[in-house]
Amino acid sequence: MTHIFPRHTRAHPPVAAQGDGAYIIDSSGKRYLDGSGGAAVSCLGHSDPEVIAAIKAQADQIAFAHTGFFTSEPAERLADRLIQHAPDGIDRVYFVSGGSEAVEAALKLARQYFLERGEPQRTRFIARRQSYHGNTLGALSTGGNAWRREPFAPLMIDTSHISPCYEYRGREEGETQEAYGQRVADELEAELQRVGPENVIAFVAEPVVGATAGAVPAVPGYFKRIREICDRHGILLILDEVMCGMGRTGTLFACEQDGIAPDIVTIAKGLGAGYQPVGAMLCTSTIYAAIENGSGFFQHGHTYIGHPMACAAADAVVEKLTDGGMTKRAAQMGAILETALNDTFGQHPNVGDIRGRGMFRGLELVADRDTKAPFDPELSVHKTLKAAAFEAGLICYPMGGTIDGRQGDHVLLAPPFILTENQVGELVDKLSKAL
Ligand code: PMP
Repeated sequence: MTHIFPRHTRAHPPVAAQGDGAYIIDSSGKRYLDGSGGAAVSCLGHSDPEVIAAIKAQADQIAFAHTGFFTSEPAERLADRLIQHAPDGIDRVYFVSGGSEAVEAALKLARQYFLERGEPQRTRFIARRQSYHGNTLGALSTGGNAWRREPFAPLMIDTSHISPCYEYRGREEGETQEAYGQRVADELEAELQRVGPENVIAFVAEPVVGATAGAVPAVPGYFKRIREICDRHGILLILDEVMCGMGRTGTLFACEQDGIAPDIVTIAKGLGAGYQPVGAMLCTSTIYAAIENGSGFFQHGHTYIGHPMACAAADAVVEKLTDGGMTKRAAQMGAILETALNDTFGQHPNVGDIRGRGMFRGLELVADRDTKAPFDPELSVHKTLKAAAFEAGLICYPMGGTIDGRQGDHVLLAPPFILTENQVGELVDKLSKAL
């Protein structure tokens, strides 16, 4: 008997009793290799001594001081560290407790920015159909995933969605990667013309699409074109790096590999690495200056923003990701994982595509490799796979609705960066058996 709301998949999950590096051990002693870091969270594994020590030390100092009255050393330190490594032009941080909160803060900051500039008619956001930006109402409205949105419709009506950059299914035969990237990016231009660019606040996108699609990066040049279109019309570019950020793709921020910088970027998940619930929204000095010189402050807030324990944990995490070399390790182990996945699943009749960057990889599951036909959604192949993998002692992140929110299945892999080569082998082996 439990008094906790069940998740949709397992009414009575096992009790997680102990963390041991890349493994979680349940109360019966069964070991699970964490092949997805939960949901791309546990980038440093489950028993990192430095992060644990940082949390303990902060608890001994002070656990909580409301930001209406105080700042704290760990929050200041973490902000400095993040800005030192942030994309060009980003120089302010707003701390929150998770990914959805970070996205909500981004949407509201962007709206307030244009209000300060005397452009109240800008109320619209444009995002992509293949995306997840969180479960709170604003974030859910921005995300494009049909099955998550539909039960709660109507959502924020001023949001529209364009196609994702989804090479496996989108690129036509004979079309170069570059031409494909420009063609899908130009859907933003067309949508701006349809709704009037003067009415739009921002374009919102995940640089590498995570939960809804299984680590789908954009083709080279796509985000450069998106950036150009945003600049041409004076709309903001908000990148959601809640899942793909914090070293996951082999660079601290995923957008570094697309050669662009956003106006606002959101991070969470890997920021606290699972040791504390923490997220952040980062913005440029231009945006911050408009607020500072206008009404003076961002009209937003939560009780737990800048929580000292959360910031102490995140500061230890980011130190390890940067100076500690863990982001470089994600790139190195990611290349090993990529090779292992290609070797094992490259010819698998039910694996249509293997994609991703660094320690962020996705396999698209198909009924027919040649025609790319997806499985019948009624079969819920992703759920069967998740259960089979779990049974075999592997945590991975399969999901349905890959193609359009209704059809398609994929499995997302986002293991801790501390994975050894042997553990890469174990992951791929267990996944192969489950498949
Ligand atoms: N944005 C992205 C890209 C995400 O992947 C997620 C979570 N899967 C969120 C936002 C929401 O984060 P949270 O679950 O921490 O609210």
